[in-house]
Amino acid sequence: MSVNYTEAQKNRLAELGMDYAGLNQEFETPSEREKQYKTVEKQAVRENKGMLNHLLFESHQPKLVLLQEALEKALCREGFTQVTTPIIISRKFLERMTIDGTHPLNDQVFWLDHKTCLRPMLAPNLYEVSRNLMNITRPPLKVFEVGSCFRKESEGNSHLKEFTMLNLVEWGTPMEERVERLKDLATLVLEAADIPDYRLEEDDSVVYGKGLDVVGTNGLELASTSMGPHALDAAWKISSTWVGIGFGLERLLMYREKQQGIHRFSKSITYLDGARLNIK
Ligand code: ATP
Ligand code: MG
Repeated sequence: MSVNYTEAQKNRLAELGMDYAGLNQEFETPSEREKQYKTVEKQAVRENKGMLNHLLFESHQPKLVLLQEALEKALCREGFTQVTTPIIISRKFLERMTIDGTHPLNDQVFWLDHKTCLRPMLAPNLYEVSRNLMNITRPPLKVFEVGSCFRKESEGNSHLKEFTMLNLVEWGTPMEERVERLKDLATLVLEAADIPDYRLEEDDSVVYGKGLDVVGTNGLELASTSMGPHALDAAWKISSTWVGIGFGLERLLMYREKQQGIHRFSKSITYLDGARLNIK
């Protein structure tokens, strides 16, 4: 009869980054398992230490920060303007996105009090800033933000409660050029992220309706796109064509680095730059 790693051993190896196949390895005897466990645990600790040493003595900045900087540079070169808006937003702003008490996303919102919450998305602030900017300049107008968003998610390998969103929007894209433009902008961001392999897939968003998703070859959603004129625009007093894309930066890293779990790339005190911190 064969044996597997114990639950405690599996947990330890998983937190050190061992993949699914490795974790489910089978052994002829418990003693063979113990021997193998010691070897692979030691090896995994060495690899995690190597990553931390790389951060401490070479890169000095985590991959999440480096990715953010690379994307910001690429978009600014393309004529986009970066904005930074508050993480705390009003109930009124969410309602303008049609997220009210009956909306599926409402249960995922971290409410601070009756009137304010941690933003689950960047779109409301981008709508507001763009509307004001369009009072002083006519489209085309290209704006983006990179920042934390918060959603109550059931635990999983590709969802975080706090994650980093890049949301870009281009106002004034000619109607018939929108789909092509979305593809070009997705390519621009993914090239800057050093991700060559992805595809576009149709998807139904609970906020925007039908749209195109950017998906990894393993089916992982990397980004969602949307375009306007859209029914939501009227609430922000905007009438313009537009295209927009929202990327999750930790998803991009997890996909690019071929890791099964997103948590090691999150803003964390357990992981740092993809490595587990509690190693000796
Ligand atoms: P999913 O269907 O994977 O839960 P979503 O469609 O709800 O994602 P969007 O609202 O389209 O997510 O957000 C845009 C992007 O932000 C997603 O494509 C993904 O890359 C990222 N993202 C969304 N929610 C999370 C989360 N909880 N943790 C990490 N990244 C996320
Ligand atoms: Mg989506």
